[in-house]
Amino acid sequence: EAKRSGRGQMCAFRPEIGERDDESRALQADLMNAMNSEQLEIHYQPLIDVKTRATIGYEALLRWRRPDGRLIMPDDFIPLAERCGLIVPLGEWVIREAVRQLADFPDDVGVAVNVSPVQLRDGNLPATVMSALASCDQPGHRLELEITENVVLEDSSAVRASLETLQKMGVRLALDDFGTGYASLNYLRQFRFDKVKIDRSFISEFTSRKESLAVLRATIDLASNLGITTLAEGVESEEQMEQLAREGCRQAQGFLFSAAKPIGEFTGVPGQTGSGLAAAPHALAPEA
Ligand code: C2E
Ligand code: MG
Ligand code: MG
Ligand code: MG
Repeated sequence: EAKRSGRGQMCAFRPEIGERDDESRALQADLMNAMNSEQLEIHYQPLIDVKTRATIGYEALLRWRRPDGRLIMPDDFIPLAERCGLIVPLGEWVIREAVRQLADFPDDVGVAVNVSPVQLRDGNLPATVMSALASCDQPGHRLELEITENVVLEDSSAVRASLETLQKMGVRLALDDFGTGYASLNYLRQFRFDKVKIDRSFISEFTSRKESLAVLRATIDLASNLGITTLAEGVESEEQMEQLAREGCRQAQGFLFSAAKPIGEFTGVPGQTGSGLAAAPHALAPEA
């Protein structure tokens, strides 16, 4: 199976970067197999406009459904996939699948896909994205790529060139988990990110801790001066939401609205369930 999984071969044939302990090796073999046997699924979490509360997009979050029914979360297999190189074919699968599902979303709703630093270093990312968009006849602006903050610090010319190529295709770039890494505000400007996602750790505290509120305010202020959209991650309460509106944060995401789930479970998104948009209570048209 390893031989058929394209770049997944790296795992099998480069023992020097392979996993040492038996458990990791077994997991690695299982994961390689998972890609070929349809055990991967994408759950979607809505991205909400703070003012109108309309759904303006969905973040694609990867899940691994084991044959015994257990659902494995990304934090439990993405790091391994990054270490052994499997993240490249895995990430390619996520991009293709998410872009394919865009056809089921309303036209003005986009999809956000997380990309790993390893994918960015692999020079094929722009070509992968281009081919995914072309084969589904989708415009680049409906796709947003989320790049975690500490990645961009590897400021190589290859990474820079990839990001520029993607932006020329209209693809949007979001800086994920902002505030957790080596917060280089300079990158916001340098790489022309379209969006900053303020990490959940600040959102969970800013209504009670002055320091977190200060970070939130500074981020919103800086981003808006640079023309960059702000999104608050991990919004769980109405109180947070109301204060975010007062602070001028543009978008929000979190359990207050919905956890990530299969796209067919959202009302108003025509999926396998066949529910039509006419029945859409969370319709995307702004209320105001
Ligand atoms: P992330 O990109 O920062 O995604 C947000 C995470 O926060 C998700 O966890 C989501 O379920 C969770 N979350 C959302 N709202 C709330 C909330 O209100 N409260 C709390 N406590 N949590 C909330 P998840 O799905 O377990 O994903 C974890 C991380 O795994 C993601 O963090 C992302 O870095 C990574 N990941 C997920 N899918 C992919 C993928 O396809 N490729 C790559 N490279 N990484 C992925
Ligand atoms: Mg993300
Ligand atoms: Mg995040
Ligand atoms: Mg995160």
